[in-house]
Amino acid sequence: MAMNDDLRNELALLLELGYTHLDIPAASAGAAGEAAAPGPLEERAGPTTAEIDGCDDLGTLGAVASDCLRCRLARTRTQVVFGTGSPTADLMFVGEAPGRDEDLQGEPFVGRAGQLLTDIIKAMKLSRAEVYIANVIKCRPPENRNPESDELEACHPYITRQIEMIRPKVIVTLGKFALQSLTGKTFSISSVRGTWLMHGSVKVMPTFHPAYLLRTPSAKKDVWNDMKKVMAELGIEVPA
Ligand code: SF4
Repeated sequence: MAMNDDLRNELALLLELGYTHLDIPAASAGAAGEAAAPGPLEERAGPTTAEIDGCDDLGTLGAVASDCLRCRLARTRTQVVFGTGSPTADLMFVGEAPGRDEDLQGEPFVGRAGQLLTDIIKAMKLSRAEVYIANVIKCRPPENRNPESDELEACHPYITRQIEMIRPKVIVTLGKFALQSLTGKTFSISSVRGTWLMHGSVKVMPTFHPAYLLRTPSAKKDVWNDMKKVMAELGIEVPA
């Protein structure tokens, strides 16, 4: 029976994880229709949470993340999308997960939603280089599906360590999964956006994801009202 490349990649990953008894047949062309099934968490492998927690600068943490095999998204990503911006930023934007453009370019928020986020940052009289932008999930979920709870759990140590290193004054979470990952709670984003929450000692402003704004332009005014609160908190003059 022919074996498609997805399944072959899955077996290759299992070998990397220590399942040394597996045999991998040669790659075959044209074996359509044999989708790789989601694997159990028992397939998780390094780095350990202790290794992530032991990183003491963003460069080291990014290098550790680049080879991460902690969840099934390692199988399908092009590359890990770690984060970008100032390592001493007062303001951090935390989104959900990379999309197709981000997966290809290795930088968060570079597609259409990313351009909208860049416009929002400029409207706040800041630049992408002055803030820090990251996602709670570092690898693209296939077909941009929602992240699974075990994937959020597996990736959580990275965003936690990023926040500990950057020590922003304010975090803006974009969409419900970012907020869920940082707070450990499931909120209706519509009910909490625009209200201050806390992540440890850091103030958190939940707001809508830019991708939602592309679908629902009428919500842009809500996000802008949220960003005006952030500007005031950071001491940036707020336009009337
Ligand atoms: S999504 Fe996070 S935990 Fe999963 S493989 Fe990528 S970096 Fe590792």
